[in-house]
Amino acid sequence: MCGSAISAATSIERYRTLSVLQLKRDKYDLFHSQKSMDANTLEVRLGNGVEYLGKPRCYFDPAVVRNSDIYCISHAHEDHLPRDIEGKKVLCSDTTLRCASSRLGRTLESSEWGGIEMKDAGHVAGSVMFLVDSGRRALYTGDFCPRDRLGMTGARPIKVDVLITEATYGVPRYVFPPTDGMVGVMRDWVEDSISQGISVALLAYPLGKSQELITMFSDLKPYLHGSVMNATELVASPDLISKCTPYSRETAKEPFLLICPPSVRNSNLMQYWKKKGLRTAAVSGWAIDSSFKYKMRVDEAFPLSDHADFEELMAFVKACDPSVVFTYHGFSVELASEIQRSLDIDAHPLIKNQKSLLEF
Ligand SMILES: [Zn+2]
Ligand SMILES: [Zn+2]
Repeated sequence: MCGSAISAATSIERYRTLSVLQLKRDKYDLFHSQKSMDANTLEVRLGNGVEYLGKPRCYFDPAVVRNSDIYCISHAHEDHLPRDIEGKKVLCSDTTLRCASSRLGRTLESSEWGGIEMKDAGHVAGSVMFLVDSGRRALYTGDFCPRDRLGMTGARPIKVDVLITEATYGVPRYVFPPTDGMVGVMRDWVEDSISQGISVALLAYPLGKSQELITMFSDLKPYLHGSVMNATELVASPDLISKCTPYSRETAKEPFLLICPPSVRNSNLMQYWKKKGLRTAAVSGWAIDSSFKYKMRVDEAFPLSDHADFEELMAFVKACDPSVVFTYHGFSVELASEIQRSLDIDAHPLIKNQKSLLEF
């Protein structure tokens, strides 16, 4: 009797186990049949830029612009511009088109595609996010900043199904101090130096941060390094341009304020003026790291950024309320796991040559 009771219990257990396995199997088959249904699948991957292989097929900030499909350029920073142009039609703002054509030495044409809208990204002049609406709404942010600053409108969240967001400062230690306070600190440092007869150089990217600095310090009539002058002439108003003087060693009158790119920090230009007492400061979000100042070999470093900081990234994702988030550019793995953990939203980092295939 005992033996048969045990065997009955065992077979019930076995039946239960089999049922669960069968259920799992059914789910597995359903999952795979859905995957093969084109209308219900979405593939997003890092390849030729960020590839959004839904309908329509879009390439965001692609390395190569081809003749077929849709090529969207979010802004004119070097790492977002194409290296190779086979076709010449792109979707971007007029400012980005001007900067990109000048940088690439080729005339690009702007095109429009129904179902794709450009929205302010608030990062640098002409920067946009792309909203793709083909039943399923997807937003590609490019680099973005939600703060309104110096005449530029910050990025606003949009309710979407799919969010593809940058993750430059996607870890909790990158939270920037309020912009107004930081501007005040910088102003004190620059004015103190100049009142002591000491020239200063602010190191910042030619497109974006430099125009912010020119606006902040226009009353000091800053000298601009050649690359900063070129970028400013492409994007700034005639009024702002009239307040700038191109730098030249022969005509520079000390003490002065010079705005120049970080790449010149070890150049002869810097060495020459440093011997005469020039003070240098780098202006970047990376200045949150105390080691940044030493890495850059500058006297000061100010954390002023044209990107969203960690808290702003999280708040933006939450307000867009997507079903799924893809992160790329910067701390993509860390940001995706933080979104998953604290917002409970499905999130995936985009990793080069790795597909993210999802069914909806
Ligand atoms: Zn950028
Ligand atoms: Zn970037």
